[in-house]
Amino acid sequence: MSKLRVYELAKQLGVASRDIIEFLREFNFNVKNHMSVVNDEAIKLASEYFDDKKEDKKEDKASNALEQDNDLEGLEEIAPLGKVPIKDEKAKKVSNKQVKRKNTKKTDFKVKVQTAEKEESNKEIYIRDGITVKELSEKLGKQVSEVIKKLIMMGIMANINHELDFDTAEKIAKEYKITVKKEEPKSIEETIIDDAPDKKDDLVPRPPVVTIMGHVDHGKTSLLDIIRKSHITLTEAGGITQHIGAYTVNIKGNKITFFDTPGHEAFTSMRARGAQATDISVLVVAADDGVMPQTIEAINHSKAANVPIIVAINKIDKPNANVDRVKQELAEQGLVAEDWGGDTICVLVSAKTGEGIDNLLEMILLVAEMSELKANPNRLANGVVIESKLDKGRGPVATVLIKNGTLKVGDHIVAGVTYGKVRAMFDDKGKSVRSAGPSIPVEVLGFSEIPDAGDIMNAVKSEKGAKQIAEKRIAANRDRMINDPHRVTLENLFDQIEEGEIKELNIIIKGDVQGSVEALEQSLEKLSNENVKVKVIHGGVGAITEYDVMLASASNAVIIGFNVRPDTKSRLLAEKEKVDIKTYRIIYEVIDDVEAAMKGMLEPEFKEVVRGRAEVRAIFKVSSIGTIAGCYVTEGKINRSNNIRVIRDGIVINEGKLASLKRFKDDVKEVSQGYECGLNVEKFNDIKEGDVIESFEMEQVERTE
Ligand code: GDP
Repeated sequence: MSKLRVYELAKQLGVASRDIIEFLREFNFNVKNHMSVVNDEAIKLASEYFDDKKEDKKEDKASNALEQDNDLEGLEEIAPLGKVPIKDEKAKKVSNKQVKRKNTKKTDFKVKVQTAEKEESNKEIYIRDGITVKELSEKLGKQVSEVIKKLIMMGIMANINHELDFDTAEKIAKEYKITVKKEEPKSIEETIIDDAPDKKDDLVPRPPVVTIMGHVDHGKTSLLDIIRKSHITLTEAGGITQHIGAYTVNIKGNKITFFDTPGHEAFTSMRARGAQATDISVLVVAADDGVMPQTIEAINHSKAANVPIIVAINKIDKPNANVDRVKQELAEQGLVAEDWGGDTICVLVSAKTGEGIDNLLEMILLVAEMSELKANPNRLANGVVIESKLDKGRGPVATVLIKNGTLKVGDHIVAGVTYGKVRAMFDDKGKSVRSAGPSIPVEVLGFSEIPDAGDIMNAVKSEKGAKQIAEKRIAANRDRMINDPHRVTLENLFDQIEEGEIKELNIIIKGDVQGSVEALEQSLEKLSNENVKVKVIHGGVGAITEYDVMLASASNAVIIGFNVRPDTKSRLLAEKEKVDIKTYRIIYEVIDDVEAAMKGMLEPEFKEVVRGRAEVRAIFKVSSIGTIAGCYVTEGKINRSNNIRVIRDGIVINEGKLASLKRFKDDVKEVSQGYECGLNVEKFNDIKEGDVIESFEMEQVERTE
C-alpha cells in the first residue's frame, strides 16, 4: 500500500494529528511528528480505535436518550455496569462499549499519573524572599491548607498571606521533592508589567503568524497578494486592505496572519531585539530558478529561530519549471521533501494562476495545529510593534501584532521608551475595532511618540505605570550611551590595547572575489602578536550589508571592504551603530593599516566622505565621446570635480573622475538629489543601467588621542 502520513491518516479518520501521534506513541510506534509515515499495523490499530471512539460518541447520545426514556418509565433496575438497564440488544452494546472505554481510560490514567509523578519530582521553581503562603502553594501546585499544615508542624503559625523567608519556603518545597531557586528582586518593569505565565486552562488556540521568505523575484510579493485578494471577502470593508504591515485571512473559520513585508531582514532584526513574532516561515523557491543565496539565508534564519519551514515551490505554470531540481537543491540544504522520504512539506504553487494556494494555506493550518499555538485572550495585552509612522492628522501610529492577551481601546500602553493610551484601533481592512486578540495585527493610535519597529508593547494597569517604565528606559539608555566603551576603530585600536580593553581585534572582510577574501584573512590573522590577536569573524563575497554591520556592532568588529562598498542603508546603520568601515583597493594597504593601527602608528588618516549617489537609468552611446549615463541623483550631490566610483551590485568596478557632467545640454558643476543628469566617466565606457555612481572626497583627519 502507498505510504500514509500521520496527518493524512488524521484527515481520513477526522481527528487531530496530535491525537493520532499520542495514541501511536502509547503503543510504542515510532512517530516523530505529523509528517511521519505510518505502517499498516499502526493504521489498522488507529482506525479501529478512533472509529470506535466515534461510534461511542454517537452511542453516548443514544444511551443518554435511553436513560431519559428509562427515567420516564420509572425503572428502578440497576444494571451491573453503568446505569443503563440491559433491556435490549442496543443497550447491551452500549454497555459493553462503556466497559471497553472505561478500561482504556484506566490505563491512560495510569500512564498519565506515572508521568506526572516523574515530572513532579524533577520540578524546579523560582521563589523570592518574602513569598506569601498563597503564592508558594500555587507555585508548588498544592492546596494552601496543606502548606499551612506543614508550616504549623514546623512551629510557624501562618495564614494565607503570611510572608515566608526563602529558607522556610525552601524547606517546605523540599518536602515535596521540589527544587527551589532564588528569584532576584523584581525591577519596576517587572512589578508593573504582568508577565506571569498563563495557566494551562486559560490558554486557547490562536492563529499562526507567517512570514514569507525567499530569494528576490521568486514571487514573495505575488504570493502575499494573491492570498490577500482571494481570501478577504468583499463584505469586509469593500475587500480593500490597508497596508498596515500584516494582514489576516480567514480560511474555513480558521485565521492565518501574514507579515506583509516579505524577507528575512525584518524577521532577523526583530529577533535581534528579542521579539520573535513568526510561528511559521513559508520559503518561496521559484521552480524555474531553484535554490539561490537568499533562499539559503532564509533557511538559516528560520533554523536559527527554530521556526518550522513550509516550502512553496512557485511559478510551476512556467514551461521551464523543474520541480525535481528544486527538491534536489533543497535536499542539499537539509530540507528533504516528504515525497522524497523527508519531512519537509513542499507545496507546488503558482502565484500567477492561483494553483496550489489553497493547499498551501491548508498546510500552514496543519503545521499550526501541530505546533499547538496558544494564548490567553483574557489578560492585559502584549505584542510587538511591526511598523510605525507619524501621520499628519492622527499623530503617532503603530501597527502592533498582539502576541498574548487582548488590547482594548482605553488601555494604557508602553512600547520601548514611548507610552500612551489606546485612543482608537483599526484592523487590516481599515475598520475601526474596539479590541484585538492574540495573533491579530492592529493599527494603534494614542502613543505619545512613535515607537520603533521591533519594540515590545505592553498594556499596563495605569498611566502612571506606563510613564514610569518609559522614563526608566530612557534613563537606562542614557546611561548605556555614557558608559558604553568606545567601539573599536583602527584609529583607537592602539589605545584600547594599551588600556587593556581589547585583547582581540575582530574583523569582518567583504571582498569582490573569494580569492582576495581568503588572502586577506590569512595575512591579517598572521599579524597577531602577544598583545592582541587578530581574528576574522566573518568573510564573504559581495557588498557590505546591514547584516555585516549588525554583526560588527554585536561583536565589536571593524569591517574591511576590499573592492566593495556598503550600500546607503548599511552606511547609515554603521554611522548610527558607530561601526568602523574601511574600504581598500590594494591588499598590502589593508595589511599596512592594520599593522600600523596595532602599533599605534596609523598615519593621520585620509577619510573619504561620500558626497552623493546617483543611479544609472539609461545609457547612450555617442561615438565621439563614449558612453553617456543618464542618471538620477538619489542622495546628496554629484560634483563635477569630486572623485567617483562606479558600483555594480555593491562591487566597485571603477574608480576615477568624471569627464563631463550635464543637465540637459548644459555643463554643470553639480547636480543635487532629486534631479536627473547625464555624465561620462573618464576612460571608462563599460557603464550599465542599474550601476550606482558614488561621488566622494578625501578629507584629512587627525588621529584622536
Ligand atoms: P519577490 O521579489 O519575491 O517579491 O517577487 P515578486 O512577487 O515581485 O515576483 C517577481 C516576478 O515574478 C514578477 O514579475 C511576478 O509577476 C512573477 N511571478 C511571481 N509568481 C509567479 C508565478 O507563479 N508564475 C509566473 N509565471 N510568474 C510569477
